[in-house]
Amino acid sequence: MHEASIMQSALEEAERHARERGCTAIHLVRLRVGALSGVVPDALEFAFEALKAGTMAAGARLEIEAVPARAFCQVCQREFTLEDAVFPCPTCGGWESELQQGRELELTRLEAS
Ligand SMILES: [Zn+2]
Repeated sequence: MHEASIMQSALEEAERHARERGCTAIHLVRLRVGALSGVVPDALEFAFEALKAGTMAAGARLEIEAVPARAFCQVCQREFTLEDAVFPCPTCGGWESELQQGRELELTRLEAS
């Protein structure tokens, strides 16, 4: 499972940050997950529950911040939300759009003590 290895590295990153701050327990981990990141949030949560045992995050909560995919059309100079990685502009039908957000996959918040 792809999400398990992603969660494994997110947990390692969280532990590294917590340790740098002299903390011993992680309480909250928040991840930003873009709609086009290729990751299923439910699978991430499942992986978190399975992998956190025995780590500093054993008692931690996971928060997932879902980021919708948005693109900017060069022709209409408008931003629009897209459902998929393939995105003609809904206004002009053009393909001159640039992805603005939606591929995020990052640790954005950590609470530890
Ligand atoms: Zn357009």
